Amino acid sequence: MTQEAKLKVVCFFAHPDDEAFGSGGTLAELVLKGHHVTTVCATNGDVGEISDPSLATRENLWKVRQNELRSAMEITGVPDVRFLGYRDSGMDGTEDNNNPASLYQSEPADVENRITSIINELKPNLILTHDPTGGYGHPDHLTVHRRVTSVVNSMNSDRPYLYYVCFPKSNFRKLWQQMTDAGITPPFAKEQLENIGSPDDYVTTVRDVSNYVDVKKASLNCHQTQLDPTGPFSKMAPESLSEWMSTEYFYLTTPSSKASQHDILLNLS
Ligand SMILES: [Zn+2]
Repeated sequence: MTQEAKLKVVCFFAHPDDEAFGSGGTLAELVLKGHHVTTVCATNGDVGEISDPSLATRENLWKVRQNELRSAMEITGVPDVRFLGYRDSGMDGTEDNNNPASLYQSEPADVENRITSIINELKPNLILTHDPTGGYGHPDHLTVHRRVTSVVNSMNSDRPYLYYVCFPKSNFRKLWQQMTDAGITPPFAKEQLENIGSPDDYVTTVRDVSNYVDVKKASLNCHQTQLDPTGPFSKMAPESLSEWMSTEYFYLTTPSSKASQHDILLNLS
């Protein structure tokens, strides 16, 4: 690919806001540098807690969260936002896993057909999605990871660069310690630390996105129904939060020959 050629990027995530913390800076940079970005969200995030009951009802939450993602992407500069239309499956082991409309209950072939049709239409040369741990193991993150990976692996030609968005284990440990030292109750228990996040040596690509932290924060702020003003991240000192948001981590998986030659996200122009 020449320096001038623009990338066609498609990111596949499970819920509105999954794009924000782990890849929002990279998406903003891609857009700023003239690359074409599409965000695809597999569910409408219609099961999670509603931070403020004045913002949405259980019935219209799906629509409100779709609009929040559209607003977030407008700030990031992503013009194309799509939804695969599944219902959020909720956390592992909850009743929402059993809803027939949920991503959890979907037929793999059905999910893959929807992903394939977007790939056939947009012909991306770079795809971003969840890593094999799903960050913290949410069943929808794992489903999106598996289905996107399966579709890309089945492509015979024009296979795109496939990147997984990673959250390194050591960061979860440091974040837990930093919050605890500051008197903030972390969003995960100490006993969970061994089971969440990607192994540090799994990460292939570490990106400094400090120039995009303001955009990233403004974009994240659009997910109002998911922002808890009394939650642990709201209690953090703004400069600490900025520091955590300044670096993004990825694993470049396919095609492996491309990985050994060059890492396109590390050489963005
Ligand atoms: Zn999610």
